[in-house]
Amino acid sequence: MLDTASNRPELPPEIARRRTFAIISHPDAGKTTLTEKFLLYGGAIQMAGQVRAKGEARRTRSDFMQMEKDRGISVSASAMSFDYNDLRFNLVDTPGHSDFSEDTYRTLTAVDAAIMVIDGAKGVESQTQKLFEVCRLRDLPILTFCNKMDRESRDVFEIIDEIQEMLAIDVTPASWPIGVGRDFVGCYDILRDRLELMDRADRNKVAESIEINGLDDPNLAKYVPEHLLDKLVEDLEMARELLPKLDPQAVLEGHMTPIWFGSAINSFGVKELMDGIGNYGPLPQVQSAQPRSIAPEEKKVAGFVFKVQANMDPKHRDRVAFVRLASGHFKRGMKLNHVRTKKPMAISNPVLFLASDRELAEEAWAGDIIGIPNHGQLRIGDTLTEGEPLRVTGIPSFAPELLQGVRAGDPMKSKHLEKALMQFAEEGAAKVFKPSIGSGFIVGVVGALQFEVLASRIEMEYGLPVRFEASQFTSARWVSGDKAAVDKLVNANKQHIANDHDGDIVYLTRLQWDIDRVVRDYPDVNLTATKEMM
Ligand code: GDP
Repeated sequence: MLDTASNRPELPPEIARRRTFAIISHPDAGKTTLTEKFLLYGGAIQMAGQVRAKGEARRTRSDFMQMEKDRGISVSASAMSFDYNDLRFNLVDTPGHSDFSEDTYRTLTAVDAAIMVIDGAKGVESQTQKLFEVCRLRDLPILTFCNKMDRESRDVFEIIDEIQEMLAIDVTPASWPIGVGRDFVGCYDILRDRLELMDRADRNKVAESIEINGLDDPNLAKYVPEHLLDKLVEDLEMARELLPKLDPQAVLEGHMTPIWFGSAINSFGVKELMDGIGNYGPLPQVQSAQPRSIAPEEKKVAGFVFKVQANMDPKHRDRVAFVRLASGHFKRGMKLNHVRTKKPMAISNPVLFLASDRELAEEAWAGDIIGIPNHGQLRIGDTLTEGEPLRVTGIPSFAPELLQGVRAGDPMKSKHLEKALMQFAEEGAAKVFKPSIGSGFIVGVVGALQFEVLASRIEMEYGLPVRFEASQFTSARWVSGDKAAVDKLVNANKQHIANDHDGDIVYLTRLQWDIDRVVRDYPDVNLTATKEMM
C-alpha cells in the first residue's frame, strides 16, 4: 500500500487515485525507454519493447509521416492510461522536438505534474531547460529521474548543483546511486531506508530490495563492496548536511524536486519513481476557468480540449479531440454542452488510450484524458460541461515566429488548400492568416521544421503538392480593443491586416518599428503576441 498524498483529502477515491503527468526531457535522455517500463510495471504489456513496436505499427497503420521516422522525432502527442498498484496513471506524451513548443505548452496544461528525465552524463540539456521553464509558468510540480546511471555519469553532487543552479529549484535526493558506470550496483533508497540492487543479467527484472536499518546496519557491507560503501556513507552524510530534506508541500508547489537515480533500460529505479509519483505527485487539481474555477470533486462533468489530431485513422476523415476531464464522473453516451457553440453534443464513442490500444471509454473521472472523435466541431481550448457556460482559461495561442506564403502546386486546387490549411490551424499545428488584400494565405509557425511537416502532411493527407515561399512579413500580432479604434487601424493599414482561422483580426509586419508605431498612435488598440483559445 502506498501512503496517500494528503494535498486534497476530500476527493472521491476514484479521483484521488489518479495521477496525470507528462515526461519532459531532452531527446535521447530515455523518455521512450522509461515510458516502456512504466507500462511494463503498469501491467499493460508483457514485455518492454512493445511500446516502440506498437507505436511504430500504429504509425504505419495510420500512414503517419515518414519524416517522423526519418528524423526520429515524435510529432504526434498522445495519451496513455495504465494502472499501477492502487493508482491510475495518465501519461500525456509531449512532442519531443523544440520546434513544437506551442503544442508542448498546451499539452502541459492538461497535466498536474511532470517527470523530468535527465541523462546522468549530460545533466540539464537545452530542451530540458526550455520545457522546465514552461512547467514553471504554471508552477507544475516536477519529479526528476536521473537516467543511465549504468554508464559513466557525473558526480551526484555536481548533477544536483547543476539542476539547482540552472533551473532555480531546490533538489532533494530520494535515492542515492552506489558506484557509477560499470561499478554501479544500485541505489540507497533514502525515503524508505532500503537498498535497491540492480540486476544486470535481466533488464526487465525488478531490482532486489533489502531493508536497511540506517547507515550503521551491518547488512550494508554484505551487499555493497567495501570501496563503494565508504563513499556511500560519506556522500549520504554530506547530502544530509548540504541538501534540503524532502518537503512534500514544496514539491506540490513546484519549489522543490525530488530526484531518483536509475537506469531505465535496466528497469532500475523505475518502480521507486512510480511510487514517488503516487506518494508525492499531485492529485487532480483545480482548473482555472471563467467565470469560476472547476474543482475535480464537483459532481458535474466538465472538460476541455487541449489537443486536436486529425487523420489518426486514414479510413475516417475524423479528428480526435483530446479532452482532459476537469471534474466529475463521465459516462459514455452523456450529452455535454459545447460551450463555445452552445450546442449539446452526445459523446457516444469516446476513446480511452489504454496502453495496449485505443479502447472505448465506458466511464472516466476527473484527471483522465479521453479522445472524442468528431468532424471538426471541437477545437483547442473548447470547454464541455453538463450545462453551465464555463470556459477553461490558460490555453494560449502564441504568435508565430516565422511566416511564409503558401500556394498550391496546381492553382485550380486552391480551395482544397484552404480546407487543408484550416484543418491544421484548428489542430493548432500552424497559424493561418488570410490577408485582407490579395489572394493566398500566410502560414505562421514557431519552428522552421513545421513548414516541412505541413508540406508533407498536405501532400499525404490531401494529395496536394504545395510550395512555401518567403513572405514580406515576419511578425504577427492579434488586434483587440475599442471597436472604433480597431476599425480605424484596419482601414488605415489594409496592407498589414489579415484574419486568422477564427476570423480574428491580425496585424502583420516585418518591422518592430511598425508595431511600436501602432502602439503609440492607437492607444485604444491592443496588439498581443498571445491569444486565449476559445
Ligand atoms: P528518448 O529520445 O528520450 O525517448 O530516449 P530513448 O528512450 O529512445 O533512449 C535513447 C537511447 O538511450 C536508446 O538507445 C536507449 O536504449 C538508451 N538508454 C535508455 N535508457 C538507458 C539506460 O538506462 N542506460 C543506457 N546505457 N542506455 C539507455
